[in-house]
Amino acid sequence: MPMANIQGSLPAPRYTCGTVAPRTPLDAAAVRRDFPILRRDVRGRPLVYLDNAATTQKPQRVIDRLVRYYSDENANVHRGVHLLSAEATDACDAARERVRQFLNAADAREIVWVRGTTEAINLVAETWGRARVGAGDEIVVSEMEHHSNILPWQALCEEKGARLRVVPVTDTGELRLDACTELLGSRTRLVAVPHVSNALGTINPVEELVRLAHERSIPVLLDGAQAVAHMPVDLQAIGCDFYAFSAHKVFGPTGIGVLYARASLLDEMRPYQRGGGTIRSVSFEETLYADAPGRFEAGTPHIAGIVGLAAAIEYLTDLGIAQVAAYEQELLAAATAALSEVPGLRLIGTAPHKAGILSFAIDDIHPHDVGTILDRSGVAIRAGHHCCQPLMARFGVPATARASLACYNTREDVQALAAALRTVRTVFA
Ligand code: PMP
Repeated sequence: MPMANIQGSLPAPRYTCGTVAPRTPLDAAAVRRDFPILRRDVRGRPLVYLDNAATTQKPQRVIDRLVRYYSDENANVHRGVHLLSAEATDACDAARERVRQFLNAADAREIVWVRGTTEAINLVAETWGRARVGAGDEIVVSEMEHHSNILPWQALCEEKGARLRVVPVTDTGELRLDACTELLGSRTRLVAVPHVSNALGTINPVEELVRLAHERSIPVLLDGAQAVAHMPVDLQAIGCDFYAFSAHKVFGPTGIGVLYARASLLDEMRPYQRGGGTIRSVSFEETLYADAPGRFEAGTPHIAGIVGLAAAIEYLTDLGIAQVAAYEQELLAAATAALSEVPGLRLIGTAPHKAGILSFAIDDIHPHDVGTILDRSGVAIRAGHHCCQPLMARFGVPATARASLACYNTREDVQALAAALRTVRTVFA
């Protein structure tokens, strides 16, 4: 069906991004002071950290929380009768509730601790996927997928004789909703797409995608790795069935993340790993497993990570996620304008609804060379395929250079980036 017809019949997509006008604008200079690492020099120059899509820096509040946990509170959860263990258990329970509020999930039992986005997606593929996907079935992903949202589904398809179907993206880097609609059929078992593309910055119309899928009774998994630090995420408004994110991309520690899954789906899912914490009772004849989320959390959890994530979410909530989103949109506009003035620079990913991610190429200069030259000026960006090799192939490049923004970046950072980029061509002249 032609694109115009389909799009004409659909309501305008709604974007769960910072479109709410905040009352008090974000004070980025004050935010910067909360992040000690931003005070350091790199190669004799002040650090300009623009690699936030890879990982975000940590505010003092999160660092202090980790230190306090290990200095004053360290104990294992669940199994203890002593005070420290009870306190650690309470702190983890409170953190789960904090994440629930942050995502506006309906129930804290729908929040499962995992190592990060990658483990969350693997968990869904290995448990729900293995039970629900069979020969001849289809899983729909998109061309803009991170490898973490391809490989688990590809392996499942190989194992089950199922098929991966791929929604193409437009030249500006938007999902082709018309093509997506055509791909959704009676054999589709799942739609798995990113909320925000890590390589293009595109904010996908996730509510619209969920509506399209749910009309056909197809569940939707959203990879939220690049969304949660940059825009309000309301899971009940979005209506998705699974949502994954990593704490380290939202100012929290590495090694901890969240899988949100609708309670009715968690109830039907078998354990992912088995061990302490997952059970109701064990005998050599039979094991009865606990309800969610415990059933999916085998072994001692990353307790420091969990309380650190809660501290990060509290920090972000105090800043105001709507303020953060609005501020980053302004900064993105400034950065896009500044980069468009750099001779030879071509942006890859120019969708109208974007988060603060700028992927680009300069002439035929290899992005690794661009990144290395910028590093000499203290400007930290990423160069590579960003774990999106199929997307790179779609745009006909082996790699891109990528600058990615967070709420502590400033216009001065953007100017430093543009100035350093202007020197790149001179090195190769
Ligand atoms: N999906 C997206 C969109 C990402 O940007 C990333 C991290 N680059 C991941 C998944 C994987 O996250 P993690 O390595 O924290 O599991």
